[in-house]
Amino acid sequence: MTLEPFKGGDLADVLHLRGQNYVSGHGPEPDWPLQLTPEERHLGRGGMAKRYLAGPLESAKGSEDLLSVPRPILEQDHYTLRQFLEKQGLSRDAIELMTLGADTSASAGLLLLVELNEQVTREYFHIRGGNDQLPGALAKQLELGGAIRYGCRVTSVGQDDSDAWAVMEHAGGHETVRGDYVVSALPFSVARNLFADARLSPEKQRVIRELQYFPVDKIFLQMQKQFWKAKGLSGFANTDLVSERFWALGPESPEERGLLLSYVIGENAAKLDTMDVHSRVQQTIADAEIVFPGAREQFEAARVKSWSEDPWQRGGLTSFGLAN
Ligand SMILES: Cc1cc2nc3c(=O)[nH]c(=O)nc-3n(C[C@H](O)[C@H](O)[C@H](O)COP(=O)(O)OP(=O)(O)OC[C@H]3O[C@@H](n4cnc5c(N)ncnc54)[C@H](O)[C@@H]3O)c2cc1C
Repeated sequence: MTLEPFKGGDLADVLHLRGQNYVSGHGPEPDWPLQLTPEERHLGRGGMAKRYLAGPLESAKGSEDLLSVPRPILEQDHYTLRQFLEKQGLSRDAIELMTLGADTSASAGLLLLVELNEQVTREYFHIRGGNDQLPGALAKQLELGGAIRYGCRVTSVGQDDSDAWAVMEHAGGHETVRGDYVVSALPFSVARNLFADARLSPEKQRVIRELQYFPVDKIFLQMQKQFWKAKGLSGFANTDLVSERFWALGPESPEERGLLLSYVIGENAAKLDTMDVHSRVQQTIADAEIVFPGAREQFEAARVKSWSEDPWQRGGLTSFGLAN
C-alpha cells in the first residue's frame, strides 16, 4: 500500500474568527478583534500556546516511551482545558483564540498527552485509495481460515465455571458460540448491557456502564476542483462556526476533484445531530462558503456521518472524564 502525506506542501491554513478570515503565515500575527491584555496581544496565538501549554510538555520530555502517563501531564488531569488555561490567568478572549475549533471541556491532561504523542510523531499519512484498505487486507488473510463472520450482532456475553459464550443474532436467528474465553473488542457505548451474565468485577462493570463518548460528525463536500489550492490555501481551517474544523483531501492537482470536509467534535456535533441531514449539509456549505469563498459554486455532492447515530458505535471519540 502506498502512503501519501496527510497534509502536504506549503499551503496555508485559515482561522475564521468573529466574521473574519485570517490566513496563517510567517509574518506578524493580525490585530485580533478580541479583548486581549497587552501581554496576550504581544505574545499572539503562537506565543501564548508556547507559554501556557508547553510547561507540562517540557517537563514530560524524555518520558515519551513510558507506559504510564508522565506525572506533569497526569497532574493536569484534574482540570478541563478551559480550567487549565484559566488558572494560569489567561483572559476569556485569549482562551478563545488559543483553542479555536476545539471543545475546551475535555481533560487538559488528555489533550496534553495527545500533544506529547504528536511531538514524537511529526508526520501523518493516508493510505492512497483509503485507509479502510488496511483492515480490508487483514480481513482477507483471516477470512481464508473462516475466522470472520459478518452480519452477526452480539447480544450478550456470559461465563460459568467451565466456559464462556457469546450469544449473537444473524439472518438465520440466534446462535450461541462457546469457548474457553470471550475477548470483546466492542465499544462500551454499544456494550453497556451485554455483560450481565459475565463475571466481571464491579469496577469493570462500572467503566463499561459509565465511559462517555464525544459526539463526532464529519460532513464531506465533494468539490469540482480543489479551488482553495489555487489561492494558496490548504483547505484546513479552525473556526468559531458550527463547522469548527475543515480538512481537505484530494489528489495533488488543484484542477482535480477534492473533498472539503467538516470535522466536528463535542457540543457542535451534538447540535448537528439535532438537525436533519439536509440541514446539516446546508449548514456546512454555508460555513464552507464563509471560510473558502467559492465553495457553494464548486459543490457537487455530500455525505454525512454521525458516529452517535451509527448503531454500531453510538458515539465517537472516548471522552475520559477528569482524573478517572
Ligand atoms: C472520527 C474519528 C476519528 C478518529 N481519528 C483517529 C486518528 O486519527 N488516529 C487514531 O489513532 N485514532 C483515531 N480515532 C480512534 C480510532 O478510530 C479508535 O480508537 C479505534 O477505531 C478503536 O478500535 P476498536 O477496534 O477498539 O473499536 P472499533 O473500531 O469501534 O470497532 C468495534 C467494532 O465492533 C462492531 N460492533 C459494534 N457492536 C457490535 C455488536 N453488538 N456485535 C458485533 N459487532 C459489533 C463495530 O461494527 C466495529 O466494527 C478516531 C475515531 C473517530 C470516531
